[in-house]
Amino acid sequence: MVMKRQKQNIHIYPTYRCNMDCLFCISGGKKRAERMKDLTVTEVIKCLEEAGVGKGSTVIYSGGEPTIYKEIFYTIKRL
Ligand code: SF4
Repeated sequence: MVMKRQKQNIHIYPTYRCNMDCLFCISGGKKRAERMKDLTVTEVIKCLEEAGVGKGSTVIYSGGEPTIYKEIFYTIKRL
C-alpha cells in the first residue's frame, strides 16, 4: 500500500550497476549488480506513480551509479 502525502522523499534504485568497485560499498558493488536486474522504465514510472510523486516531492535516484542507467533522464522528465 502506498500512502499519498503532499510532500514526500522517495528513494529509487533503478540499477545496482556501477563504474566503480569501492571496497566500502554498501550497495554490494559488482557482485550485487550481477545478481540484480535493472528496473525497466515501466517499473520505475510505476513505482513513482504508486508512491504519489507530485509537486513538493523529492526523488533521489541511487544505486549503484544511477547515471549509468540509460533511461534516467526519460524517467525524470515523466515526473
Ligand atoms: S555505488 Fe558508490 S560506493 Fe558502491 S561501488 Fe559505486 S561509487 Fe563505490
